[in-house]
Amino acid sequence: MDCLFCKIANHDLHATIVVENEDVIAFEDINKIAPVHVLVVPKKHLQNVAELDPEDTRLLSAIQTAIKYVVQTTGIEESGFRVTTNAGESAGQSVFHLHYHVIGGRNLNVALG
Ligand code: 5GP
Ligand code: ZN
Repeated sequence: MDCLFCKIANHDLHATIVVENEDVIAFEDINKIAPVHVLVVPKKHLQNVAELDPEDTRLLSAIQTAIKYVVQTTGIEESGFRVTTNAGESAGQSVFHLHYHVIGGRNLNVALG
């Protein structure tokens, strides 16, 4: 499968990695929209959050742990941040491998959508 984030997860493509373990990889977005813009990506290929199995507690926990690590180590836990995951082209998804944008370090617009 020709998937950009599978390639990054396999280290076939370079990324600036923030944290990584067996289940997830977090790396800096190539086109940052804020001082902190990190993508938290499960290594398992899933298209979007709707494909995530609620019973896959290990993966869910790994995702949450990575998000928490990112906000704590970048200093945005106190200043405020947003976690977003897009699903489908109409929602703005451009890479069809599940990922969570962790964004902070500036004032974010209040409105969603
Ligand atoms: P989406 O639009 O699917 O929600 O988010 C995809 C994100 O991946 C975008 O913010 C885009 O800047 C980022 N991105 C696209 N290609 C690359 C790449 O090769 N490396 C990194 N680090 N980020 C990428
Ligand atoms: Zn993939």
